[in-house]
Amino acid sequence: MLAGIWEEFLTIAREEAGSRVVETWFKAVTLQRWDALNKVVYLQAPNHFVCDWVQSSYGLLLQEHLGRLFNVVKPKIVITTEAQKQKERLDRDHAAVLPAESLSATLEPTHANKLSINRTPGLGNKNYSFSSFVVGPSNALAYAAAQAVAQNPGTVYNPLFLFGGSGLGKTHLLHAIGQEIQANNPKAIILYQPIDRFVTEFISAIRFDRVHKFREKYKAVDVLLVDDIQFISNKEQTQEAFFHIFNALYETKKQIVFSSDTVPANIEGLAERLRSRLAWGLVADIYAPSLETKIAIIKKKADYTGQEVPDDVASFIASYVVSNVRELEGALIRVMAFASLTNQSVTIELAKKVLMRRGESHSHLVDFDSVIRCLSKHYPYSLEELRSKGRGKDLASVRQIAMFLMKKVTGKSLRDVGHFLGGRDHSTVMHAVGCIERRALADHAFGELLRRIEQEVTRS
Ligand code: ADP
Ligand code: MG
Repeated sequence: MLAGIWEEFLTIAREEAGSRVVETWFKAVTLQRWDALNKVVYLQAPNHFVCDWVQSSYGLLLQEHLGRLFNVVKPKIVITTEAQKQKERLDRDHAAVLPAESLSATLEPTHANKLSINRTPGLGNKNYSFSSFVVGPSNALAYAAAQAVAQNPGTVYNPLFLFGGSGLGKTHLLHAIGQEIQANNPKAIILYQPIDRFVTEFISAIRFDRVHKFREKYKAVDVLLVDDIQFISNKEQTQEAFFHIFNALYETKKQIVFSSDTVPANIEGLAERLRSRLAWGLVADIYAPSLETKIAIIKKKADYTGQEVPDDVASFIASYVVSNVRELEGALIRVMAFASLTNQSVTIELAKKVLMRRGESHSHLVDFDSVIRCLSKHYPYSLEELRSKGRGKDLASVRQIAMFLMKKVTGKSLRDVGHFLGGRDHSTVMHAVGCIERRALADHAFGELLRRIEQEVTRS
């Protein structure tokens, strides 16, 4: 059960803080024990550095979400290191530098053909196939392009650039392409690589003076599937290395597929020449699924696990979860698990009970714009100013109020809120939420005003 909860926390943390944070910090941490009596969560970190960093940077995140998963408010989070585990720790520290595959293994030419899809961590996920993907108007273009590429790699659309919001199926399609090509051509060397892993590998290559081998490894692949390319922003040296790899593959007609949460033009801190190459082939978007598509996805996911979801419950879950398919799946799993654990049948009432958070009333998930509209009735700042780098005391405080309200009423992640408000970090948003909560507690009039605005927003 602890392992399951920690996995679920990692999924949430990935949403809230991004996969880089999860890979770098949380993957090194384990959930040791849950003391329900005293409401204490015990975590273990490999060393003091990780321990302190996680505690200070992500303490609130841990508290909020582990609290929710254990069904208590603000549990105490205790992170320790364990001295006897020194050996393990050394191994693990090493693994953190070379996370995916050990460079020495993968960079040897004799191992080149072992870079196949089955060897690539994460690509063993057979559920991410074309046949398990539900096609609707929101993803039809991306799906068709992915299939075309899988049928004729390196010829039709090269590179293929898939973009869309979080949890809309980009990684799924990347895997599906890889699996299909591998099935048609078992000898093809297919490499699926989230860009953060590429960055880490590249940094290790520099440290161990292996840049040449690093390049060779990539140039040996037939199909390169690069997930979340937006995270290459502002990493000049990595971009440079990637640029050369891209050219080499492109010139030899090897298929390259990218996924991103935004179009190339909007990836900040991207060298112009790389930006233009990303958009050379086909740029296909995936947007939020319609209600019908969401229902079809729920049905399919349930089918896969041999469960049955009544139609009304499927449409309740589909309308409850706004746009993220990952959350849709999570909601379905929670409802089904609760029903089976408590021996109840799957009804709308049960789904409501399981899904709704305290104080939340159904269908009052509002969007960012409504928050901004209501705020502008009370404060003299435009969206542009809120997004700006301006740090005037008043402006900064209204920006914090905006963050607080957005987090509270939209159901969006810290990262989405920060992104919307001028590309700020998840930790800035979390800090803002904390500040505003404290201020509302200390200043009664402010607390009242905040509640009033919140009501206006949810009624808008
Ligand atoms: P992204 O990479 O865009 O953030 P993922 O590919 O990880 O999203 O998708 C999140 C989850 O939602 C995965 O489990 C995936 O299988 C599922 N999913 C997304 N879109 C679809 C779809 N159209 N049909 C079936 N499952 C989907
Ligand atoms: Mg993804």
